[in-house]
Amino acid sequence: MAIQLFTPAFEVEECLEQIRECLEKGWTGLGYKTVQFEEEWKKYTGWEHAHYLNSATAGLNLAFDILKEENGWDQDAEVITTPLTFISSNHAILLAGLKAVFADIDDTLCLDPQSVESRITDKTKAVLFVGLGGNTGHYRGVAALCKKYGLKLVLDAAHMAGTRYKNGEVPGKEADVIVYSFQAVKNLPTADSGMICFKDPEYDRIVREKTWLGINKDTYARTNSSGTYKWRYDVEYVGNKYHGNSIIASIGLVQLKYLDRDNAYRRQLAEWYTQGFASYPDKIKLVEIDASCESSRHLFQIIVDNRDEMMLALNQQEIYPGVHYVDNTEYRMYRYADGTCPRARYVSDHVISLPMHMKVTYEDVQTIVKAVISFVTKEHTK
Ligand SMILES: *Cc1c(COP(=O)(O)O)cnc(C)c1O
Repeated sequence: MAIQLFTPAFEVEECLEQIRECLEKGWTGLGYKTVQFEEEWKKYTGWEHAHYLNSATAGLNLAFDILKEENGWDQDAEVITTPLTFISSNHAILLAGLKAVFADIDDTLCLDPQSVESRITDKTKAVLFVGLGGNTGHYRGVAALCKKYGLKLVLDAAHMAGTRYKNGEVPGKEADVIVYSFQAVKNLPTADSGMICFKDPEYDRIVREKTWLGINKDTYARTNSSGTYKWRYDVEYVGNKYHGNSIIASIGLVQLKYLDRDNAYRRQLAEWYTQGFASYPDKIKLVEIDASCESSRHLFQIIVDNRDEMMLALNQQEIYPGVHYVDNTEYRMYRYADGTCPRARYVSDHVISLPMHMKVTYEDVQTIVKAVISFVTKEHTK
């Protein structure tokens, strides 16, 4: 049977039970389960604020929109970011009317602090760090730079649901805002949704209005206790409709209970892959994971000489890996930075993500390992 890169797995009966509660109660939208999920996420991560969204993309858009507006950044303001990410990370910078400045990655495939520092100018306002594959990379080094230079720090934690440091700490306490994704193939699968966690309580208040068109229902309710103006609300911001709903939050509430179990299995898969490739360090390069990081293992990536041919060879054996990611500076709106991040370009051309999900078995890993090794050793004798 074919082995896919990602296949979501749900606790179906439990999810249906939660969804049934919403349907019977007649409450499927904002509030109710969305609030419960926010509370559970705060308990799980330890963050003080969490607001449930219809996607992480919405969260990234909101993060830059609010930081720009509240800090009075102008059109020249620059955000230092990685070229090796899903496109929504960098689109969020452009959509907010800011300039994306690309820094290079290191062996963790996350931003290299040295490269970040070399890109800082007097226009730099923020850094966007992406924890690729659930890896913390040198996040703390980047956080230290942000502190030193007075820059805001945005953490795209789309892959990091359940990532911890080995001392139990959840990475991100230095960040001004953290955005998680609960899209179907992420570690905490729903259908589409996400969470935005601001450090500043005022930004958390603003984001709650901005995810519902900027509407503030409280102002008139507070001044008119008689209820005469119940229908009336103030509109404080130009916002979008970005909040999550109770049906999808129902799935999130259930899957959150199994996140640590699922991530432990992902780490087991990663261990099996790592053991399988141990004898081929020259042909199959693994991504460096910091010793202090207990990764969510959203991805298992290897770097090989002949990625495109390996992809075809694996596909012929019904193994369907992926690529995370194509260097974003290859896309037309970021091409002004083409060639500025040679390590990211190299990885973009040589990286391959092997199947990583709850339905991959030990036997599947052995099949994949064998196929990969057979390809790289044949290459060798050619
Ligand atoms: C998936 C992903 C996003 C976007 O998440 P959605 O919830 O699908 O909007 C953002 N950044 C990265 C790195 C991602 O992998």
